[in-house]
This record gives sequence, C-alpha cells and structure tokens, in this order.
Amino acid sequence: MGKGFFHVPKAVNEPVKTYAPGTPEREEVLLTYKELYNTKFDVPLYIGSEEIRTGKTASINPPHDHKHECGVYHLAEKKHVEQAIETALEARKKWAKLEWEQRAAVFLKAADLISGPYRQKMNAATMIGQSKTIFQAEIDSAAEICDFLRFNVEYMTELYNEQPNSSDGCWNRVEYRPLEGFVYAITPFNFTAIAGNLPSSAALMGNVAVWKPSDSQMLSAQVLMEVFKEAGVPDGVINMVMGDPEMITDTVLKSPDFAGIHYTGSTAVFKNIWAKIGNNIHTYKSYPRIVGETGGKDFIIAHPTSNPKQVATAITRGAFEFQGQKCSAASRVYLPKSLWPEIKDFLVEDVQSIKMGSPEDLTNFFTAVIHERSFDKLASYIDKAKKDDDAEIVVGGNYDKSVGYFVEPTVILAKDPHYTTMEEELFGPVVTIYVYEDDKWEETLHIVDNTSEYALTGAIFSGDRYEAAKATDILQNAAGNFYINDKPTGAVVGQQPFGGARGSGTNDKAGSKLNLMRWISPRLIKETFVPATDYKYPFMKE
Ligand code: NAD
Repeated sequence: MGKGFFHVPKAVNEPVKTYAPGTPEREEVLLTYKELYNTKFDVPLYIGSEEIRTGKTASINPPHDHKHECGVYHLAEKKHVEQAIETALEARKKWAKLEWEQRAAVFLKAADLISGPYRQKMNAATMIGQSKTIFQAEIDSAAEICDFLRFNVEYMTELYNEQPNSSDGCWNRVEYRPLEGFVYAITPFNFTAIAGNLPSSAALMGNVAVWKPSDSQMLSAQVLMEVFKEAGVPDGVINMVMGDPEMITDTVLKSPDFAGIHYTGSTAVFKNIWAKIGNNIHTYKSYPRIVGETGGKDFIIAHPTSNPKQVATAITRGAFEFQGQKCSAASRVYLPKSLWPEIKDFLVEDVQSIKMGSPEDLTNFFTAVIHERSFDKLASYIDKAKKDDDAEIVVGGNYDKSVGYFVEPTVILAKDPHYTTMEEELFGPVVTIYVYEDDKWEETLHIVDNTSEYALTGAIFSGDRYEAAKATDILQNAAGNFYINDKPTGAVVGQQPFGGARGSGTNDKAGSKLNLMRWISPRLIKETFVPATDYKYPFMKE
C-alpha cells in the first residue's frame, strides 16, 4: 500500500427489492426481460482484450421455452485455452503488483454497477437463461453477487491486518502474496453469484483467473464479463472460456503454472479433477490449492414437539424454490408419525397451490428445470417411485417437456429410510419423506447422519431445547450449514458462510475470510535493525 492505511466502506447486505405490483423495479425488469428475450446473443470467449468468436457454436435456449433460441456461444479449442493461460500469466505481471486498494476499488465498483445500472440486465439474463423467478434472480444475481464483492473486500483488509508481533530490534511483517501462477475457476449453472464470485474472489487477492462457466449459464456469464470490464478489471485478469469441459480442464491442468482451482459443481466431477491434479503433481511449480464446493443431500428432521405448519412451510420453501436446484435444497425429510397427518395436509395444500410456468409471469412460484438431461433424470426417478412398492407419490409426479422442462413439485413417501431418493442427489423439485415412530427420534438422528455421502446443509425442528441440543450434537458432522427451526436454504453472505464437508466439499466457506485465505501465499519478512557482529552467545563465555 502506498500512502495511507485506507479504510474500506463498511460492507452491508444489498437490500432485496420486492417487485410487488406497482413498483418501478417490476416494470423495469419486465421491460429488460422482453428486450433480452428478443436479442440474439453471440457470446464470445473473453481472452485478454479480445472477444474471440471461434465459429464453432452451441445454442442458448431458455429452459422454460426450449424451442426459442436466444443466440449462441462460441466454443474454445485447445489453442484458445492455452492462449487464455498465457494471457493471464502476462496480466499477472502488473496485477499482482497493484496496490490492494486499487484492486478493492475495481470490485467495489463492480458491486455498485450490479446494484445500480446492471441490476435488471443481470436479473433478466438469469431469469431467461437459468429459469429463475424474479425473486430467485434478485437474491442471486443482484443481492448475493454484490454481497460477495463487497464483503470480500472487507475480509481482504481484515486478513491483511493480521500481522505478527515484533520483539526488540526487529520488525516482522507478513505480506499476503497472490499465488504464483493462475487460478482456474469452474462454475455451476445454478447461481450467477457463484459464477461471479469464483474468479473474482481469487482476482481480488491479486491472482489472475481462467474461468470456465457452465454451458447453462451463458447469458448471465456474459453480463458478468461486461460488468467486470466496465468496473475496470484489467484485460487478462479474468479470462472466460467455454466448450468441452474435459478438454478445457485437461489443458489447464497440464500447465506448470496451474496454482489453484476454485470449483463449484457436482461431486463426481470434482473428485475426477482432484485425481487428475494428483496425477499431474510433478508438473506444477507449487502445490495447487484445491477448493471445491460440491453436491448435497440436504435434510430436514422434525421432533414430535415441533410446529407442523412451520415444518410444512420449511419443506415447501426449502425443497421447491428454484425448482429444488439449490445445492442446499431439502431433499430428504424425517417426520414423526404423530405429526405426519397434519404436516401432510399443509404440505399437499401448499404444493397444489404452486403456480408453474414462465418466469416472465411474475405470479409463478416455480418454473422449469435447467435442461433435458436433468428433466429426464428426474422423470425416471419419479416413474420408479410410482412403480416401487416401498414408495408412493404423495403429491405432484407429473412432468412435461413439450414447451419447457417442467417437472411438478413432487413429494415421495418412502417406507425405507434408505430408499434411493433418500440417498442420491437428484437436484430438482423432488423431496422424499420418511415417517419415523415417535419413540425412535434418537435412532433416526443416527440414520440422518449415516445415510448420505454428503454433508452440506440440514435443518432440525424442535420445540424442546434438550432435543435440539441432542440433534445438534449427533448431527455435528452431517452438515456444514446447520439450521435450527428454519429451512436449510437461503444462506446470506456475511451472515451464514456457506459450505459443507464429507462429499460436499472442502468447506472453505464461500463469502468468508476463510475462502480468501486459499488464494494467498503469505511471505514473512523479518528485518533486523542492528545485525549481530559476533557469532558467540553469552553462555559460551568461560
Ligand atoms: P456440474 O457438475 O454438471 O457442472 C459444474 C461445472 O463443471 C460446469 O462448469 C461444468 O461444465 C463442469 N464440468 C462438467 N463436467 C466436467 C468435467 N468432466 N471436467 C471438468 N469440468 C466439468 O454441476 P451443475 O449441474 O452445473 O451444478 C449442480 C451441482 O453443483 C450439484 O451437484 C450441486 O449440489 C452443486 N453445487 C454445490 C454448491 C455448494 O456450494 N456446495 C453450490 C452450487 C451447486
């Protein structure tokens, strides 16, 4: 830092707008939606200052209206990935040396651009490309990404403030260097905020990034790049390439300068990447940082003392918002026999009232799932549940992909707590319920703990404090984000740092100081003012 100990503006959560009838934001987002819907996008690779159109393209179709084409995105070849790496390393020469307050200013500006002039473009692109309702878009592509950008700046300064003691005659300082090389960010389709955060959090700490967004998030990915450019992220600091994920990843992982991966997506993909990094370990100049937030099989368990209406509401919201495509979405639920009839009535009533359709109709709570692969997978599990003797469909169970990939919110009742849909991540609007005998509460808590390979989010409901404490203890390792009397979704940056362990990830807590620590390599500098001139110590005297 140059000439002052600068304080950054205090980070506060971006207010979430309501979009209620009559509000200006409602009108604005609908206008922007229409405009973008009728635009033909042509999304290039962003490498340094270049926008590269390779001519090899794939089409972009809204999941809720898949016959409509919103345009195309260009696919990288190996040489483009190599170019992105070289460009990033070249940009690193200046970026890694730039004072922290300059980097902070760039990303604070990005947040203000999203909060202001880009808000509805971000939201509309997310609504069209990822089929989010306006509220789900607003909490993601407006609020959460602003929070990531602003809180990370504050966390960076807190980290930089952590300095060692110095004894007489010397001064110890720690400087938080960026990693030596480049960071590879791979992002999922389901959160525009995650897509923006994974490359930018590393870049904020002085790193350069090669970013591979999901094929199913291309519209909002392009808007993010526009924002980064306008905010002043220098050319080459964040480079966006898309195409065959395996080819891109293999090319990146062969580079000796690969310094870390910032990944969010499914567990199997991450485990394979980890294995590839292991196989290439002798290639790298440094030990790469491996950060991955992955799948989940998130639970709700209710004690017999819990409130049935509250539990039913947590299931409806926790399992079905954004069509159950949140990594934190409740997908297995354990209810006591005594409360099941009442909870069932509330739940069926709620689910039957859910309106499904295009996100352009703001009265809809629910839209389409992301792509045909996901639709087919969900349909096959629903069909299986219809046939299996140890499962029954309580409500929902229909699907139709003639216009969009619509799957009804579906509740399955399983007789066996290890029924497939109690164990596997489906990533869609299907929740499975197991009803336990009231006197088997503790036994059921152990089943919750042992059922799944994942440990991302989980929620318990209890009106009894001792039982809440017992559940908190028994489920200590079952979730990285644990909720008492609340749904397991809706983590807010700066309030509920997010991430899970076991098969759910490295638990580096996106949107916290812990995450930023992975993108730095501290250097200790000890300076002695009057160096010794005699090698002998006093104890050596005769
Ligand atoms: P996905 O695994 O299909 O894709 C994630 C990313 O990996 C995409 O960019 C994709 O192109 C890329 N990819 C796919 N195959 C690859 C390969 N062979 N090599 C390298 N990269 C590859 O996941 P998705 O459908 O986009 O997202 C849903 C998944 O993400 C779910 O499992 C969900 O639980 C998880 N998720 C986890 C968190 C979390 O914080 N734990 C947050 C969001 C999503």
